[in-house]
Amino acid sequence: MEDHLLPGVKEVADDLFMITLPMPFRLAHVNVYALIDGDGLSLFDTGGNFPGTFDILEEFLRKIGFSVTRVRRVFVTHFHADHCGIAGLIKEKSGASVLMSETDFGGIRSLEQEGTHLGLLRTFCLEQGLDNGTAEIVAGIFRSFKDITWPFQADAYLKDGLEVTVGDKTVRVVATPGHTSGHCSFFIPEGGILVAGDSILPHITPNLSIDLLSPAFRPLKSFIESLEKMSRFPVDTAYPAHGLPFQDLHGRAEEIKAHHREREALTLRALEGRPKTAAEVSLVVFGNDLPEFDRLLALNETYVHLLELEHEGVIRRYRQVDKDVFTFV
Ligand SMILES: [Zn+2]
Repeated sequence: MEDHLLPGVKEVADDLFMITLPMPFRLAHVNVYALIDGDGLSLFDTGGNFPGTFDILEEFLRKIGFSVTRVRRVFVTHFHADHCGIAGLIKEKSGASVLMSETDFGGIRSLEQEGTHLGLLRTFCLEQGLDNGTAEIVAGIFRSFKDITWPFQADAYLKDGLEVTVGDKTVRVVATPGHTSGHCSFFIPEGGILVAGDSILPHITPNLSIDLLSPAFRPLKSFIESLEKMSRFPVDTAYPAHGLPFQDLHGRAEEIKAHHREREALTLRALEGRPKTAAEVSLVVFGNDLPEFDRLLALNETYVHLLELEHEGVIRRYRQVDKDVFTFV
């Protein structure tokens, strides 16, 4: 299955290496990319702080004639631990500078302030109708995530349109909010390369969830706009963080948009009959046979659709005791 790539390293374009690292999750791998940067390398993402990841990365860098100590820069697509979990460690070993969006660096900060983040998460879960037991289990899982990011400071913040010279190439930052509010992708005109992180994936759609710190962020709307934005770049090949590199970014973007239109129709149908909480709608759309963490993912996916339908004026929400309930306008 292409979704379960084996660990390894290979040159996928001129001076660009794809490094597949193992991960102890259902998504069993993450791809990071290395671009020749003078006598060293620039990395795009790092993998998570799982036992052995750093050593495997070092082994693969040695295979291509480098070492972690020769990493000059780390470009981070987004703040999730599987993407920047060892940026701090790489920085300690090499003196590399770590670059990411200010918004997503805020995400790292908030995970560090564990109490605040878990409090917001718990409130969201309960307000949207998840039961207390599930909310507690989910909070516990998030608590365990904290250790898979080695602490670090960002050296500079990435902004949309910023161009960075790496070796003899230009790397252009493309802000692609959606999966996270500060997600960045990277376009390299020479070769039509897009290092995509989780902004567009070949076989799955990245999870969409609200930004607990900025409730005004509209994940689905931003995500669709980012797909359209990426489609306007002359991309020859997209290099995702999960799955194999793929061509026809435009076609894949259209497929994902169609998927979300279907999801929207299911969400609306689930609201028929009587008003429901987001958790109740998610049970209709995703079924009730899910482990706790997947119930949260299902709730998030459902909620971002309800949020858009609410913005479009198709549905509205009201408060019933301490929960949000959605109904047709
Ligand atoms: Zn992610």
